[in-house]
Amino acid sequence: MAKKSEITPIRKQYLEIKRDYPNAILFFRLGDFYETFDEDAETTARELDIVLTSRNVAKGVRVPMAGIPHHAAENYLGRLIERGYHVAICEQIGEQPVKGIFPRKVMRVVTPGTVYEPGLLPGDGNNYLVCLVMKGDSDPKNSTKQLHSTQAGIAYVDITTGEFAVTELQGGNIIEGVRSEINRLNPAEILLSERFYADESLPGHHTEWPAWRFEVGRCREALMSHFEVTTLDGFGLRTDTIGVQAAGAIIQYLTDTQPTALKLLMGLSRYSLHDFMTLDSATRRNLELTETIRQGSIAGSLLGILDHSVTPMGKRLIRQWVSKPLLDVSRIENRQVGVELLHQNGLLRGEICNQLKKFSDLERLTNRVISGSAQPRDLVALLDTLDLLKEIDHLLKEHQDLIGILTSDFYLCSAELDLLNAALSDDPPVTLKNIGIIRAGFSDELDAVIERSKHARDWIANLEHVEKTRTGIKTLKVGYNKVFGYYLEVTRANSSMVPEEYIRKQTLVNAERYITPDLKEYETLVLNADERIREIEGRIFKEICQRLAKSAHMLLSTARAIAELDVFCGLAECAINGGYCKPEVVEEDTLEITDGRHPVVERSLDSERYVPNDAIFESDERIRVITGPNMSGKSTYLRQVALIALMAQMGSFVPAASARIGLIDRIFTRIGAQDEIHAGQSTFMVEMIETANILHHSTNRSLLILDEIGRGTSTYDGVSIAWAVIEYIHNHPKLRAKTLFATHYHELTQLSEFLPGIRNYNVAVSEADGTVVFLHRIVPGGADRSYGIHVGQLAGLPKPVTQRASEILIQLEASSGQAIKLEQHTPQQLALFPATNPLLEELNAIDINALSPIEALNMLYEWQRRYADSAEQE
Ligand code: ADP
Ligand code: MG
Repeated sequence: MAKKSEITPIRKQYLEIKRDYPNAILFFRLGDFYETFDEDAETTARELDIVLTSRNVAKGVRVPMAGIPHHAAENYLGRLIERGYHVAICEQIGEQPVKGIFPRKVMRVVTPGTVYEPGLLPGDGNNYLVCLVMKGDSDPKNSTKQLHSTQAGIAYVDITTGEFAVTELQGGNIIEGVRSEINRLNPAEILLSERFYADESLPGHHTEWPAWRFEVGRCREALMSHFEVTTLDGFGLRTDTIGVQAAGAIIQYLTDTQPTALKLLMGLSRYSLHDFMTLDSATRRNLELTETIRQGSIAGSLLGILDHSVTPMGKRLIRQWVSKPLLDVSRIENRQVGVELLHQNGLLRGEICNQLKKFSDLERLTNRVISGSAQPRDLVALLDTLDLLKEIDHLLKEHQDLIGILTSDFYLCSAELDLLNAALSDDPPVTLKNIGIIRAGFSDELDAVIERSKHARDWIANLEHVEKTRTGIKTLKVGYNKVFGYYLEVTRANSSMVPEEYIRKQTLVNAERYITPDLKEYETLVLNADERIREIEGRIFKEICQRLAKSAHMLLSTARAIAELDVFCGLAECAINGGYCKPEVVEEDTLEITDGRHPVVERSLDSERYVPNDAIFESDERIRVITGPNMSGKSTYLRQVALIALMAQMGSFVPAASARIGLIDRIFTRIGAQDEIHAGQSTFMVEMIETANILHHSTNRSLLILDEIGRGTSTYDGVSIAWAVIEYIHNHPKLRAKTLFATHYHELTQLSEFLPGIRNYNVAVSEADGTVVFLHRIVPGGADRSYGIHVGQLAGLPKPVTQRASEILIQLEASSGQAIKLEQHTPQQLALFPATNPLLEELNAIDINALSPIEALNMLYEWQRRYADSAEQE
């Protein structure tokens, strides 16, 4: 290593700055490039696939270097952030001193939760930074990050919209609640104490921070000084709670990474998870609320059906509504009023929608203005958008009842519009690099400079004519070159006629070139004018943004009102297209759906008509056991009931002829044995974990959707578990949740004989002329046959196979009524455990290449079970 004194000044500056950002890649601005050095350079070159070079930093010392052009930074930045890196952006600031280097400063640290570049943000969702704090989350003596928490604080912020909120969880083990809330938020980044246990299953990039940052006093101070208050009571936060820690840590984190974003956080709203229906992550997934299980696409999800919004704000809001159904009848009814109003008035809906279509992202524009990252194109978009408010205002005035449905205030924002109209020129450039942003007449100072510059240009343009006349030299010319700037040229023959004040600058073969003091003065005016104009316009632009920022609360409130209008129009549109009805949502414990449909499946059936089904629970009915062949529509029915309840509580109309829904506090689902492996656990294990969670957390106001519980294990285990689960739900005084239980275990229909709250239903099948038709109709009573062979036929099994299967079935049924018995006593199964070791033979016979992971797991599972069984028999 070179001695300190030998190191170049730039290297010294770099090392000093880098010392403060050991965990981020430092983008060091050098002219038109962001350069990275040392390890950062190696990482950057590798991740971005760019050339790794080197740079001299002292005599004979070179260090690795990789650079990207600053104008293309966004794209590269995006790729680094996506891979979980943090990037510190260090800019040149101020003027370059005559001797020495530019002063430089890190302006922001970009992390996944703090990006604001439009190109790096999800368009129709929020970009959340979440902070999670847990109490009792670790034992300092124990280095393994064990988790047993009884308290948690979750705060989240979207720095592009200014949303900032916090909630607290208390109780037994709250980890499930934490998981489901964080899954709902689907953050880009989670800030955690480094002492927190590592829960890899939580979505988003995990940023670990030292524990002292979460210390309650420090967090309280951060919040109080940010909001300039002396107490946090106004936010509904008691002084030293875990919520204060979560929200305070976010403030500190933004102070470090993105200080300009702090200006956007004008309030902190405290919410309770008890205000919303609880939907755990499995349920969100199973019900495909915001994305499909297979493709992860919005199309095919409930959101895909309900989202008809036309503005970015509306798209974000409808996603929030779908993720957070309400638990308050009057709030739900308020939303229904909005949907109904626009449902009934198609003309009005059309008019509003036509206007809204032209709106830009008012929320994010406002925030760019406040944070100082706005460019001229943003103000143009803001102007165009504010200009549209007149029409909306007009419509609202004509339909007073519309105003009542909006929870955010709508402002006309005419002063802001006037300001923009007065200040912005007709066709301003896209970015601040170019001039011509500000309209003539807005600033005397600017106008004067422009006027002077124009005058100077005119003066120079006229000079040739003026001087020809004055001197009488007919060959006099005005020219320009890079070395001398403007000059007067006179042929040698006329040299004698040149006036005194001409200063000779250059002699050519046939001519002499001169300048005059006046000419140089005007020249300077012309040449410097652009620079001056750029500087003044930049200053005025900033002032405009500052003036607009003062109205930020109005602009943001209006943006939210627009979002609500948009969502109401969208839900109304959806209700019309789908022939939905307005559900009645009530406090009492009831569930009555007439002719309900599955909102997504009914769309996918084009020629076939979807068969509607009722779900009318009798007063003492708690559990509905639904049997029926495969592919007959059990799963669809279960989901449709859950979706209709959920849609009703978010304020939407529902796909049914009529519906009366008693508030449901949570929906739990355990759907299907999906053939995939979650985090190394077998499907059966996942199924049992989810079932355990349901049994621990549901109440008598919950809705349980249990689809084929026990399917992932052997028949005996499966039936027994399913049986016990139903009994438990039915008998446990705290549970008694309304339950829809689909199963192919016919044995379970016997339960209704012992337990009064159970009803049997099955899916009707028509068997005429030997052909079997699934009617998809749910009717009372248990199913008597499973029609598995029929499904095999539909799936294209060769005819000999299905024929033979039918024969075997008849034999089996004749020999004993119970299929289970047969399976236990078949000779093959007993023959598997003779003296030699058949396990080895089986092992040998496996074609590992043809084996899927799930098959392999199942095989292991099966072997283990058989081994246990055989050990028992011995
Ligand atoms: P199961 O769970 O009984 O195996 P599913 O609910 O998965 O059956 O339904 C199988 C298929 O039957 C669905 O993909 C859908 O195409 C069709 N289906 C289900 N319910 C209906 C219905 N009510 N009307 C028309 N088709 C339906
Ligand atoms: Mg099914």
